[in-house]
Amino acid sequence: MTTTARTKYRPATELVYVDNSDGKNPKDNYNAASMPIYQTATFKQSSSAQMGEYDYSRSGNPTRSHVENHLAKIMSAKRAFAVNSGMTALDVITRLVKSGEEIIAGDDLYGGTNRLLTFLATHNNVKTHHIDTTNADTIIPYLSDKTRLVLLETPTNPLMKIADIPRIIQIVRERSPNALVVVDNTMMSPYLQRPLEMGADIVYDSGTKYLSGHHDLMAGVVAVKDDSIGDKIYFTINATGVGLGPFDCWLLMRGIKTLAVRMDRQQANAIKIAEFLQEHKFKVHYPGLKTHPQYELHAKMSSGPGAVLSFETGDVELSGKLVELTRLWGISVSFGCVNSLISMPCRMSHASIPAEVRAARAMPEDLIRLCVGIEDVDDLLEDLYHALTGSGALKLAN
Ligand SMILES: *Cc1c(COP(=O)(O)O)cnc(C)c1O
Repeated sequence: MTTTARTKYRPATELVYVDNSDGKNPKDNYNAASMPIYQTATFKQSSSAQMGEYDYSRSGNPTRSHVENHLAKIMSAKRAFAVNSGMTALDVITRLVKSGEEIIAGDDLYGGTNRLLTFLATHNNVKTHHIDTTNADTIIPYLSDKTRLVLLETPTNPLMKIADIPRIIQIVRERSPNALVVVDNTMMSPYLQRPLEMGADIVYDSGTKYLSGHHDLMAGVVAVKDDSIGDKIYFTINATGVGLGPFDCWLLMRGIKTLAVRMDRQQANAIKIAEFLQEHKFKVHYPGLKTHPQYELHAKMSSGPGAVLSFETGDVELSGKLVELTRLWGISVSFGCVNSLISMPCRMSHASIPAEVRAARAMPEDLIRLCVGIEDVDDLLEDLYHALTGSGALKLAN
């Protein structure tokens, strides 16, 4: 279908503006300004011979179509799909891989991603090669005609390492033309980074994080650059029944509309906090600092460093004490929420990665991750300062 191309608005505007110029959005009888929640499993048909647009919510639901169309637009995708969680998104994508084929992925991956890839290796004969994606050339020896997916996270979580998406895509296209480049864009959200515009084949996002922004739902998004991949993804979603339920679709849509204001504020706060920690001589991992080894590369691919950072205290016990001394910073896994969160990845979100593997991948056990929210930054800084001094991580004389 060809549509008259309209000039795109800037990303913050596109998040709010619901476009129906292609007529793809489901019609609502009453012109509701907010797409209603079609809380129904089935849709009545006018005859047994002629099926309407929707028949069964596993296969399709107007509230889901609405948020999916909007997601496709803001992610610069041909098609987007809303599913039950970020891990579901990855599960659906990895079903494109057949037994005997291979995956290449980073070595500083989200813990749940690691768990699913390990399962595929032990149960489905799908091997994953973990490589250091900070240097694009490290991928070369692992690419072959068996490679089906190249799975990238950038920035990585929690070490904030950057992968050169366009360069890796170029190498993959030259050496393994049948491989698909997949980017987990959760750390950035489509507001800050859009890998499909850089040539990636598939992008997924945990909607549980920035897209929804309030930690009140689990969701995942898969966005694809062409219809042939889209058809395969849709087949799996319909076959397994993992499409996002109507109420969560509605909540996700509501969250997306405020993504820009939340991210702008969270990011501005994060920059101040990263600078504060660096001034106090902590080793800080954050692509918004000019001292980050890949500051320029990240700035080239995205429009901001996001609101997750990590730092080292030099001592595990001390880090544990520090985390417990904060009041405003909730001890919690996850990120992307309006509230600020603090965690120790090695004990929490990344605990499912065996200690020896964490060590081999140079993940410091004392690492503290900060997921910065929209609070007044002075309160966040004061609370952090109190915990830093109270735990002894920051000597007052320092
Ligand atoms: C949270 C997260 C996921 C998984 O998403 P869920 O919604 O928790 O299933 C995947 N990748 C990254 C980078 C994440 O932060």
